Amino acid sequence: MRRRDLLQLAVCGSVGQAVLRGMPSPKIRDVRVIATAPAGLRLAVVKILTDQDGLYGYGCATFTQRADLVVAAVERYLKPFLEGKPADRIDDIWQACYNSSYWRNGPVLNNALSGVDMALWDIKGRQAGLPVYQLLGGKCREAVDCYGHAGGSEIPEVIDSARRFMERGFRHVRVQIGVPGMSGYGAGGAGARPEALHQSPVYEPAVYLRRALKMIEACRKQLGEEVELLHDVHERVSPSQAIQFAKDVEPFRLFFLEDPLSPEDIAYFRQMRQQTSTPIAMGELFNSPHEWTPLIAERLIDYIRMHISQMGGVTPARKVAAFAELFGVRTAWHGPGDVSPIGHAANVALDLACHNFGVQEYSPFSERVREVFSGCPEMRNGYLYANEKPGWGIEVDEKAAAKYPFGSFEQGEHKRLNGGWGEVRRRDGTIIKQ
Ligand code: MG
Repeated sequence: MRRRDLLQLAVCGSVGQAVLRGMPSPKIRDVRVIATAPAGLRLAVVKILTDQDGLYGYGCATFTQRADLVVAAVERYLKPFLEGKPADRIDDIWQACYNSSYWRNGPVLNNALSGVDMALWDIKGRQAGLPVYQLLGGKCREAVDCYGHAGGSEIPEVIDSARRFMERGFRHVRVQIGVPGMSGYGAGGAGARPEALHQSPVYEPAVYLRRALKMIEACRKQLGEEVELLHDVHERVSPSQAIQFAKDVEPFRLFFLEDPLSPEDIAYFRQMRQQTSTPIAMGELFNSPHEWTPLIAERLIDYIRMHISQMGGVTPARKVAAFAELFGVRTAWHGPGDVSPIGHAANVALDLACHNFGVQEYSPFSERVREVFSGCPEMRNGYLYANEKPGWGIEVDEKAAAKYPFGSFEQGEHKRLNGGWGEVRRRDGTIIKQ
């Protein structure tokens, strides 16, 4: 066998995959979106096909609240821009797409760009016969330590919910509590709706904060010292309330306090940092480098929480992770249900390959999600394990995906708003951030 053939065999991990050497670059032949909602949440997955037989890839472009717009951004703008371009030039394509709209860093276009970017990483992995974490440098750890979402409308329920995660092997648990009659985050609030000057769901920041503090104290006392507790404020309180709360929870040693401030209030992190030792996680709503760069460079937060499709894909995320490592900031990528399994696989690839990994948010994959997406990362004892197949190792059953179009399982206001969110107001009618 010739030396070149041997080299080809060395890089070609699976039968039928294109090889990296001695073959022309694959060209992008088609770009389309698989729009599906197997668990009710609208998932958008970009599929890029190349001119090489059987060589294609998938990327997550999920922005569930404005999903139709992402589909149009991909199919009406990026597809004609990308057709015929070499699929193996990932960063170059990212830069070209990023600049092609002139105005940039918005959630719709970033998600569209992410769908393309992740699909190209998938293609490169399939070409090489390697999982994407290998392309990023290989494993820094064996598996990905995750936190689960515990919650309840009363403190004993929250504690029971957390215990169930601990019994399954989780070492990190996020704890959330509802407020009676109010619209909470991460937990329902049983009870009559409080009197208000409007008909929308009600939320009062001070009531939530008093209740959350008691809940965190009870969790620490009853769950013991060993478990890592996390809590998400979800940016719903004022900056001064957030700073006070971060100080109040210090004795209970949170692993991190998430989104205490909204993106509009990030300048307050300087004051927060000076006043409390509670570790801070921030970033799931960020779209732009102008948001995360100062927080990392000034060491104002401990964990970056960006939603990788919202920041434009794996290409910008791996750069931010490397940047954060230099400043001692760790990663805790956003991992809710409104990320497709491709997006979760991208989180896991970065978690494995980045030294400064902190923790990973975990959302289970339902049976219907697995019907559409085979090869999802596997959860065992609180750790997520990557699929070891080339690329993301995930296949999408497009026939199964078509059984669950956008709007599947939606009802009432949610359906009327085309998957968008309704409003939440204070008693007097003031809109609050959610
Ligand atoms: Mg959050």
